[in-house]
Amino acid sequence: MAYSYEAPVSQTLFDRASLVTPGGVNSPVRAFRAVGGTPRFMVSGTGPYLTDADGREYVDLVCSWGPMILGHAHPEVVAAVQDAVARGTSFGTPGEGEVALAEEIVARIEPVEQVRLVSSGTEATMSAIRLARGFTGRAKVVKFAGCYHGHVDALLAAAGSGVATFGLPDTPGVTGAQAGDTIVLPYNDLEAVRAAFAAQPGEIACVITEASPGNMGVVPPQDGFNAGLKEICAAEGALYISDEVMTGFRTSKAGWYGIDGVRPDLMTFGKVMGGGFPAAAFGGRADVMARLAPAGPVYQAGTLSGNPVATAAGLAQLRLLDDAAYAKVDAVSAELRSLVGEAFAKAGVAHTVSAASNMFSVFFTEEPVRNYEDAKKQEAFRFTAFFHSMLEQGVYLPPSAFESWFVSTAHDARALERIAAALPAAARAASEATS
Ligand code: PLP
Repeated sequence: MAYSYEAPVSQTLFDRASLVTPGGVNSPVRAFRAVGGTPRFMVSGTGPYLTDADGREYVDLVCSWGPMILGHAHPEVVAAVQDAVARGTSFGTPGEGEVALAEEIVARIEPVEQVRLVSSGTEATMSAIRLARGFTGRAKVVKFAGCYHGHVDALLAAAGSGVATFGLPDTPGVTGAQAGDTIVLPYNDLEAVRAAFAAQPGEIACVITEASPGNMGVVPPQDGFNAGLKEICAAEGALYISDEVMTGFRTSKAGWYGIDGVRPDLMTFGKVMGGGFPAAAFGGRADVMARLAPAGPVYQAGTLSGNPVATAAGLAQLRLLDDAAYAKVDAVSAELRSLVGEAFAKAGVAHTVSAASNMFSVFFTEEPVRNYEDAKKQEAFRFTAFFHSMLEQGVYLPPSAFESWFVSTAHDARALERIAAALPAAARAASEATS
């Protein structure tokens, strides 16, 4: 597919990057492999806008894949970072900022009695699983196809996000031993979970699930699914781990837990809680967390865990996220969803706008999407045409049909008008796409 617009400076940077970095990017989903073309190298962000190296401005609907819920370069977050950075960037000792961030998380999310800070969502899920295994003395882990929990060896089987985008088989480099204790089940299927426990009595340490999945596109849990998982885990002596790296502090003040109220044994967080810096966490029941070193025998550590600059950014962002901020993000999302739906309906494109609170994505199908198998049946080629038309008109979407779109409190009327103006031509491009 040829595109009528160019990005010469991004192209030059991408050529340079490709010489020194595999695929030219430091995280696969940033490459435009699923949609073709040159990834845009961004040089700055303000509010809802990003500016690329060619000087073009975009309305940003990726928000750094979730973290930037207040928009880019929010003055109060920037001030907190400047203040922290001027006092030193890392001490390798405890500091008050990490206590304050942990207190904020514990205050917001009732099932989190104790929390440990780490630097990425991957570390959070990896550590939560180790802890679940250490606590239960069992080896096996249940995960769901299409859910992504970071690039943890044991959790890459049938994963979402980039693994789904690129249709990768189970990743080379993960050994049979590492993946052998992972049981992959279809999402939204409690019978499959019951059957797995029945087939392996006393062997399953935990069930890990995205609280509401956003890595196979947005596929919310059906009524009673999370509650059912919790109930089965409790009956079987396994831990229920809710991965809120994406939904945490985004879908409500208390994340997805604030919406469905199902109490996990352990939870994982990242993205929004770092304010755009590498900060993540896992936490939950105090008796389980007590097994973690140095209180207990399950080892987990990190040179930069609780980094003072990252915790300052995260704390500043969380403190700004009050009820009014969530109401704003929800309203922006609702308006955008209705604009997108209208544009596709007018262009005669079969589609479903699938939402979970303020997270949403578009499936190019009108069949129900309950799991990864359903998600893969959509006409994803229409997304490619849609994506490039939006990009050309200055709207930056995730470069994949299997990712959530994200908005922020900074998406104002002007930003929404720009998106509204771009949608009709992009929806027409989707309708005309043939493969
Ligand atoms: N869990 C979920 C639900 C995610 O969406 C992600 C990242 O997208 C991760 C874990 C991994 O987080 P990180 O990319 O910070 O390692």
